[in-house]
Amino acid sequence: MSLYNIEPRAPMKHFLDMAKIPHGSGNEAAVSTWLAGFGKNLGFETIIDESYNVIIRKPGTVGYENAPRVILQGHLDMVCEKNNNTEHDFITQGINVLSDGKYLSADGTTLGADNAVAVAYTMAVLEADDIPHPPLTVIMTTNEEVGLLGATALNAKYLSDAKYMINLDSGGDNIFTVGCAGGNRTAFTIKCKPSPIPAGYSAMQISVSGLLGGHSGKDINAGRGNANIFIGRLIYPLISKYGALISTINGGDKDNAIPREAHAIICIPNRHLNEAKNELGNINNNIKTEYSISEPNAEIEFIDVAANKAYSEQFSLTIASLLRLIPNGVQAFDQTFPDLIETSLSLGVVKADDEGVTFYSAVRSSVRSKKSDVVSRLKTLADTLNIEIKTYNEYPEWQFKRDSILQKICGDVNTELFGVEAAFHIMHGGLECGVILDKAPQLDIIAMGPNLFDNHSPDERLEIASFGRCWEVLKAVLKKMK
Ligand SMILES: [Zn+2]
Repeated sequence: MSLYNIEPRAPMKHFLDMAKIPHGSGNEAAVSTWLAGFGKNLGFETIIDESYNVIIRKPGTVGYENAPRVILQGHLDMVCEKNNNTEHDFITQGINVLSDGKYLSADGTTLGADNAVAVAYTMAVLEADDIPHPPLTVIMTTNEEVGLLGATALNAKYLSDAKYMINLDSGGDNIFTVGCAGGNRTAFTIKCKPSPIPAGYSAMQISVSGLLGGHSGKDINAGRGNANIFIGRLIYPLISKYGALISTINGGDKDNAIPREAHAIICIPNRHLNEAKNELGNINNNIKTEYSISEPNAEIEFIDVAANKAYSEQFSLTIASLLRLIPNGVQAFDQTFPDLIETSLSLGVVKADDEGVTFYSAVRSSVRSKKSDVVSRLKTLADTLNIEIKTYNEYPEWQFKRDSILQKICGDVNTELFGVEAAFHIMHGGLECGVILDKAPQLDIIAMGPNLFDNHSPDERLEIASFGRCWEVLKAVLKKMK
């Protein structure tokens, strides 16, 4: 059976057509032109801005001409990941979409259903003359997956005459997203140069590995270990009690992932070697016991190695103190939805080189002042230890709106269509909704989407029945927005 016969056919056609056009982040010109051409052909006001964001305006249908304007929003770009044994050029080749009857997936690559579903649904609404809806502004952005760049560059004038926004990049069956965290990255830098190690020290490599890791936002409440924090716990007493020196220290490789591995080479005065090893053994046992359930594969190893340079005693103590004192993990749960995370931070990367050691944390909160408060605590820590700190990659939160009309409509629609009460969620990660709300605070926003699994990986798959359900929800919600 041709995939084009899969229901709902109208959005499915656009989904499959879009998959043929390469559209990785940064490579959106062709897909933008394609979408804009579609809008122009239908006779609608269509704009491509400098960032290749596409804006299409369609009047309300009969009886809806004067209803408040609704933005339908999603992103044009996709994450390009493939299996090691898959040959695929994401710049020139489209996605080879497969179906097993239940899911759509790709052939060894990401599918790009994140966020082609948004484009597909909105194109099907734009072309339809039998779907009642208020005046619409379609906004499809670029470079979402690499830091919400298209949305950030979007001119607020395209948002100002709308009252509502439906984002199509988050959700799942019976789930609507009604808020998201804002965040930033924070970097501490300890400027220090290693120098030759005096006589009488023995070097040992301390390695933490085998941790589960995960996304530093959505997985931060899973009780997993952070390899950088473990390393700090292991090395601090060696330095503070026995005068050990840090030769090198490195952990994690992505500032938005919970680090799975960290390694340090520590130079221990020979006269304290036995005590130090005993101490390490004790801490190792404690960590293994404490995390036996959440980190069953944790490995902590101590290996004798050779080293010739190390940071001074004072700098070694500062590095270890920072690792002991830096706040990490969940800081607060949401007050409205107590099982959801409101504020967190995660020490993703520790990196040492000849200039010093840098520590990168990802800070997240759905309440702006709480995010500032975490940053303020980090600054206090930096001041106390007399080290440098900077924040960057700031992105705004989408704060939950208590009296949202759109939430009410979506909840009603879900119950009417499926007989199931909808759940409302706050995402502990950035969404374009936060960026857009920051530009257009009048908007009442909700996000919905079909069941999508393992996005950003070659295992990405879209549940076909759910693609149909979300399409029904979207149409029914638009119909109610009179
Ligand atoms: Zn997305």
